[in-house]
Amino acid sequence: MSLPPLVEPAAELTVDEVRRYSRHLIIPDVGMAGQKRLKNAKVLFVGAGGLGSPGLMYLAAAGVGTLGIVEFDEVDESNLQRQVIHSQADIGRPKAESARDTIKGINPYVNVILHEERLEADNVMGIFSDYDLIVDGTDNFATRYLVNDACVLLNKPYVWGSIYRFDGQASVFWSEHGPCYRCLYPEPPPPGMVPSCAEGGVLGVLCASIGSIQANEAIKLLAGIGEPLVGRLMIYDALEMQYRQVKVRKDPDCAVCGENPTVTELIDYEAFCGVVSEEAQAAAADSTITPKQLKEWIDEGENIEIIDVREPNEFEIVSIPGARLIPKNEFLMGSALESLPQDKKIVLNCKTGVRSAEVLAVLKSAGFADAVHVGGGVVGWVNQIEPAKPIY
Ligand code: ZN
Repeated sequence: MSLPPLVEPAAELTVDEVRRYSRHLIIPDVGMAGQKRLKNAKVLFVGAGGLGSPGLMYLAAAGVGTLGIVEFDEVDESNLQRQVIHSQADIGRPKAESARDTIKGINPYVNVILHEERLEADNVMGIFSDYDLIVDGTDNFATRYLVNDACVLLNKPYVWGSIYRFDGQASVFWSEHGPCYRCLYPEPPPPGMVPSCAEGGVLGVLCASIGSIQANEAIKLLAGIGEPLVGRLMIYDALEMQYRQVKVRKDPDCAVCGENPTVTELIDYEAFCGVVSEEAQAAAADSTITPKQLKEWIDEGENIEIIDVREPNEFEIVSIPGARLIPKNEFLMGSALESLPQDKKIVLNCKTGVRSAEVLAVLKSAGFADAVHVGGGVVGWVNQIEPAKPIY
């Protein structure tokens, strides 16, 4: 399926622009008309992180006239392993500003518009409506469903990508011509089931593989060339070095783009995706302690056992003194419960307090009534108690 170009050509290219884009201009499929379309195009990238870094840099170099960036975060040292749009000197700066400066360095003719706010149901329509095309480079399910539903409701195409460890996926969702993200994934995974990149890790160079597919699809859609990834899901395995593709069909029962949609306006996506399950929220409601409280208990010789429910390679990086490692899965399988002491108060911790809340719910229902977990996890502990230790 080929689709008409998304954008009308700009009136003309300057002499400088002709020189700059000459390697595009001599490709017959792009040519002067295609390059003028790119000049007139307005593309919004959601996120200036792992996928946004290569995606934005290549779209800027390619001559996309206007690039919007939605990003509220700041550059952290742990970003630099993969987010190549940012540099050492940018640590602590807003990512949006750092990304803009890099883009301006690559191509001063690009108009960069910053949206330094968290994308929410009450601002997404206003932001998206100014752009021809959206590129989703986010790493959380709530924002993915928000981006999808807003694009369906506005009838805009968007290029989606996702990365985890050595695996990447990409597709183009455009409900007018094919399926949407909900046709592929009608429901978010249960909270805690799918780890984020912050929890599970990501190979830095994987961002380039998937981010460049996204930039490639964006250019094709804007210029109206080639076969867009509409109705196809690309699956990339960097370890096996294999690309596979799967057909994705429009689901007539899709909640947002189906024949009788039940989602006709934006919803509460945090609640829809349940960052923490209801069981975990209930368990943690009156059983969450602060890192400072834990420090007091340790100093006072309180009768406690600290159990760290992260994975061994996380535990190796940093841990709370005296903590014993029992990964979350061993609780979910049930095998860990018998190794817990009955005569001590159990204190659970993980990286930030999400996984430990899930395990807390398991312990409560197994009869460990006085078990607690550490809000903020080992990251909170390092920030408040042992700032010389590393966080990740
Ligand atoms: Zn759909």
